[in-house]
Amino acid sequence: MNKIAKALTIAGSDSGGGAGILADIKTFQELEVFGMSAITAITAQNTLGVQGVYPLSVEAVQQQIKSIGEDIGTDALKTGMLFSSEIIQVVAEQIKHYQWRNVVVDPVMIAKGGASLLQREAIEALKKDLLPLATVITPNIPEAELLTGITIKRLADRQKAAQYLWDLGVAHVVIKGGHGEGELVDLLFDGKEFTEYRSERIQTKNTHGTGCTFAAAVTAELAKGREVKEAVQVAKDFIQAAVENQIEVGHGHGPTNHWA
Ligand code: PLP
Repeated sequence: MNKIAKALTIAGSDSGGGAGILADIKTFQELEVFGMSAITAITAQNTLGVQGVYPLSVEAVQQQIKSIGEDIGTDALKTGMLFSSEIIQVVAEQIKHYQWRNVVVDPVMIAKGGASLLQREAIEALKKDLLPLATVITPNIPEAELLTGITIKRLADRQKAAQYLWDLGVAHVVIKGGHGEGELVDLLFDGKEFTEYRSERIQTKNTHGTGCTFAAAVTAELAKGREVKEAVQVAKDFIQAAVENQIEVGHGHGPTNHWA
């Protein structure tokens, strides 16, 4: 029998196939890890926007994670849309209970069209309960601003925000530069040094699910045993190719190409 690295995503589904659980599982498959999911909420969604958000019960989320924990286990996991502080608390408890390592937190808050994917009052629970368990957090600039209260204009502001998040107990902070201007720079901080990952900015409206895909790629590489610094580089290359090689899906903000 072949041994295979395993990865779990705890997130919301996107019926349109571009973001959330769908993007995560496609990414896991491409990067050759065995993908599993615990769904927190179902979204009715397409490339034009989010038409509905239907959270699952805390019990349903808990049981999905338990079913995996009691049998299969995982080498890495990623959280995406968690929706409420109750779901955040149960996810944090389960991660501790199973002593899972390689925890990637993508602090999903608001979809591009403005739909709320995390209740405002749940931000504190995210910071208090989940971030101390995180190996990596992957906010974009607006998410880093909401989590830290720091207005980010220059790279120095991002360094300050990274330090703030590291102080909350996150081992590695990646603040992505997709929402900036000019050359695209993602910034990694491990408590000691900053590493910059640079790439050309591609002008396109088809970036739906880029955040999910990037974090899923980091998770897949951690599951395979890569160090964080290298995992981020693989994820960066993966997302760059996925945005560059566009596919025609829907009439709005199209998804990235996971085959690229
Ligand atoms: N829908 C779900 C379920 C998600 O998890 C995410 C992730 O960020 C999004 C939507 C966001 O999509 P977009 O990249 O269009 O902001």
